Amino acid sequence: MEVTNNFNVPETLMSLAKRDYYSKGKSDYSVTELLSPPRVQRLRRLYHSQMKQDVSQMLWQLMGSALHVVAERGQADGHVTEERLFTTFEGVVVSGAIDVQQEESDGVTIMDYKFTSAWAVMNEKPEWEQQQNVYGWLVRREKKKNVKGVKIIALIRDWNRREAERREDYPKAPIQVISLRLWSHEEAEEFVRNRIAAHNTGKVAVAFDEELPLCSDEDRWVRETKYAVMKEGRKRAVKLFDNEADAKQFAEQEKGYVETRNGEAIRCAGDYCGVSQWCSQYRAENAGGDEGGGVRPEGREE
Ligand code: SF4
Repeated sequence: MEVTNNFNVPETLMSLAKRDYYSKGKSDYSVTELLSPPRVQRLRRLYHSQMKQDVSQMLWQLMGSALHVVAERGQADGHVTEERLFTTFEGVVVSGAIDVQQEESDGVTIMDYKFTSAWAVMNEKPEWEQQQNVYGWLVRREKKKNVKGVKIIALIRDWNRREAERREDYPKAPIQVISLRLWSHEEAEEFVRNRIAAHNTGKVAVAFDEELPLCSDEDRWVRETKYAVMKEGRKRAVKLFDNEADAKQFAEQEKGYVETRNGEAIRCAGDYCGVSQWCSQYRAENAGGDEGGGVRPEGREE
């Protein structure tokens, strides 16, 4: 992938952006790759040499890399930092780099640092639970140790003291330790097996983009169409509806009118997957339509 420098940022930042902190070593799949949609992954591998990203758009990736370097330097008794584990399963090698493993006599607690938003902390992020539990599976398989907990250390980049005082559900500090549901070894293994099968299907279809597995609505960050009941002289909607008929009925009662807010696949439209220009699914869904860039929703990270 070519890293461009459209805003003339210092060369030192450029060289950091070009460094690969997430080398997956000699594995077929990193845990991150396994969790991402097979179509995105295959298109990225196919078009890697043609992909471009401007360094100015890589701020949070760079901050994430910086955090890993800092985490590696932090020392505490019983803490293993930045260890990459490899395992062979279903004929492929899977690897994962774990930020912190806190080792105690009764088991290991796995922790991962995330730069994220307050919104993400307040809402469900199934991908966090999936990632940490696949790391747990790797630890059980390769280190033969009990895993007693999986956690995220969320560093909230947009934390706001006022909001914390005003809202009950808002994180009370800019760093939050979040305990996630711990899966059984069997549950994690089944999950990994299914992910490998999905990616292997993508591999077979590599020459034919049309035959790659389709990205789901969840993969594409689909935002559904909403119907907003509006009133003259008011900028904000009185109420939002999923259903047009309900919105019309309410608008009649309120003597307002209905505004349709069209849904879209935000990851595709905003090219947050980085491969939308080569994607037949995106092309097919936009045939004759508007391919304008979407706004990245809160808490979404690529
Ligand atoms: S453009 Fe959309 S459908 Fe195509 S790979 Fe990207 S996320 Fe998936």
